[in-house]
Amino acid sequence: MKAVLLKAAKTPLVLENVPDPVPGPGEAVARVLACGAGLTVHHARAGRVRVDYPRILGHEIAGEIVAVGTGVTSVQRGDGVTAYFYLTCGQCHWCRIDRETLCENFRGYVGREVDGGYAEYIKLRADAFIKIPEGLDWRKYPAEAGVVCDAIATPLKVTRKARLMPTDVVAVFGAGGGLGVHMLKVARWAHARKVIAVDVMASKFEACIKAGADATVDASSGDVPQQLLELTGGKGIDVAIDFVSNAATLESALGALGKGGRLVTLGGSGARFTADPGDMLRKEVEILGSRYASKEEVRESLELAARGDVWPLVSEKVPLAQAEAIHQQLEKGLITGRAALMMQ
Ligand SMILES: [Zn+2]
Repeated sequence: MKAVLLKAAKTPLVLENVPDPVPGPGEAVARVLACGAGLTVHHARAGRVRVDYPRILGHEIAGEIVAVGTGVTSVQRGDGVTAYFYLTCGQCHWCRIDRETLCENFRGYVGREVDGGYAEYIKLRADAFIKIPEGLDWRKYPAEAGVVCDAIATPLKVTRKARLMPTDVVAVFGAGGGLGVHMLKVARWAHARKVIAVDVMASKFEACIKAGADATVDASSGDVPQQLLELTGGKGIDVAIDFVSNAATLESALGALGKGGRLVTLGGSGARFTADPGDMLRKEVEILGSRYASKEEVRESLELAARGDVWPLVSEKVPLAQAEAIHQQLEKGLITGRAALMMQ
């Protein structure tokens, strides 16, 4: 099969022919129709996370099961599937309570510790495949169906972490990025009172408005907390969601929170930031971490897309052979929403 390989850290992706995967016991193989290309994938291409080389990257797939190994009952040939990004055990306390991102026996990620979806076929443990529901036409919209498993599921979890209410004013930091744009869409779907997009690239604000933002804040000019306070009549925002999560954005987000405010961080650079406990106490603000989503939240996100409640923004669809070109654009922050590689 054709596959795009990362052969060493910080080297260009290369298209090669490799042997077709064959499912062992408990495994299944899907023919990949499309695979999303986002920052979680780009971290490996950019050398920010280590993988075993050579490696086939990618996890946001839509595909069709074409072969199953012995003992597999959860999927069968012909099923439309996407993939769960994390390699989890399914047995531990956290897996059993639908919090797989905290799995005690976490084994890594699809497209990092095992080969992913930048290829014509992908082999995974059968329980890593999640069936795409009736009503979501994955043959017609494989790129959109593929990216839902992260681009919609991750924001859906954030709305729950933050206990997002229809009375809330929400600010999304890094709103122009792949997850940020989808967070705007999901916050709008969740009936947030006001959705504010914060980003350093004003060129992305048009897409942010289209995705559901009511207002934009250009973080490259002026005091961000001050601008957010002005947009809320001095009250401050209820929910800050930070996809950048460097010290500056986290401190800006905290500084802009009003009474009862919640700050959700989704990782970022790992830099430390300063919080004022007196301010936290007076306002009873909360700082929350949220990573990816549960398998159930992936299924729910697929249902939302099937109903047309939230539809992902895939702005670039290119053949597999152009994977490296897309990652060059990701490196420069030039992709709005998601890009996807198309195998057909
Ligand atoms: Zn587990």
